[in-house]
Amino acid sequence: MTDTSSHLMQAYARQPVAFVRGSGASLWDADGVEYLDAMAGVAVTSLGHAHPDIAAAIAEQAGLLLHTSNLFRIDWQERLGERLCALAGMERAFFCNSGAEANEAALKLARLHARRARVAQPQVLVMDNGFHGRTLATLAATGNPAAQRGFEPLMPGFVRVPYDDIGAVRRAAAEAPDIVAVLVETVQGEGGVRAAGAAYLRELRALCDRHGWLLMADEVQTGMGRTGAWFGYRHAGVVPDVVTLAKGLGNGFPIGACLARGPAAALFSPGGHGSTFGGNPLACRVGCAVIDVMAREQLPQRAAVLGRRLLAALRAALHGHPDVLAIRGQGLMIGIELDHPCAGLVGRALEQQRLLITVTRGNTLRLLPPLICSEAQIDDIAARVARLLDIDQT
Ligand code: PMP
Repeated sequence: MTDTSSHLMQAYARQPVAFVRGSGASLWDADGVEYLDAMAGVAVTSLGHAHPDIAAAIAEQAGLLLHTSNLFRIDWQERLGERLCALAGMERAFFCNSGAEANEAALKLARLHARRARVAQPQVLVMDNGFHGRTLATLAATGNPAAQRGFEPLMPGFVRVPYDDIGAVRRAAAEAPDIVAVLVETVQGEGGVRAAGAAYLRELRALCDRHGWLLMADEVQTGMGRTGAWFGYRHAGVVPDVVTLAKGLGNGFPIGACLARGPAAALFSPGGHGSTFGGNPLACRVGCAVIDVMAREQLPQRAAVLGRRLLAALRAALHGHPDVLAIRGQGLMIGIELDHPCAGLVGRALEQQRLLITVTRGNTLRLLPPLICSEAQIDDIAARVARLLDIDQT
């Protein structure tokens, strides 16, 4: 369907609703109709809409200084780098404006790491159903042929294996000696809300150590408290060499970060990589304000508690539902896999339940509510999803 009246490129299939205002987990359209947000802009607005601390940080910084240049020291960038590294077990940060850009920085670190190791044709190990972005390099890393279609030739330098299968990684190591890094999501968000096992991540860490590969965790969707810990790898007790962040780091303000420790933290040299907007004072101040609120309100822990509550409520409400194959998740990242394509559910959820949800991999209803939801709102999400799926049966 092409909307011929629009001057926007048709890159998105959009719902016919526009929101004009938000507060917490609520959104309103121009007619004053209230909606319940169970997707948080795809794991972005974790603190909810119009959070007063974030609004105040933006307003104050906008009145002081928006932008200078990475030619100068930027104090808010130093501060955010220090705070993120302390939380993530990393040593240095590079700031950019999106998840894809953060992964581009990580992939460039892998190339520099290969050069240092004198590997001429370096390969990065990536996963089936992984998602890393839509720029040409991150699209090649992404394990979704539908997203790649039409954009060939894809950038070379990737070896793809099944997710959460350590045997496949061992076989790849034996067959492809030029692997220099692994890029992995701790929970595949776009890939159907699938969590890697803790044992898998630990064995992956051990294989990286044995072969001298960089372990690069794409925490763009899972990071900043979403899974019930500040970062998804914390559940497994492993520490990657490189971590990428975006989405929840800015609560809606565009920002991305690539963090690294050890030798990987020292690979970029002046002039070697850069971004005009990346790390500007406003974005970094927002990042610091997000961390302040998350730490004060213990939102990673709250995501764990609310996630368990939502999973239990969904399992109780949908028990025995003939279309439901699985209900799974980690923290407030929950998928309900159905036995049929369910793209139409997004529109029906809006229209009939005034509920914002997303669908991934065609048949998995995904819930990513703000971490500041009340218990009552979490129960309300479960009730609306149950009503939605009952209606869908008819
Ligand atoms: N990595 C992961 C795991 C993601 O889920 C996404 C976005 N869905 C990206 C990268 C890309 O982020 P962005 O859209 O900010 O480029």
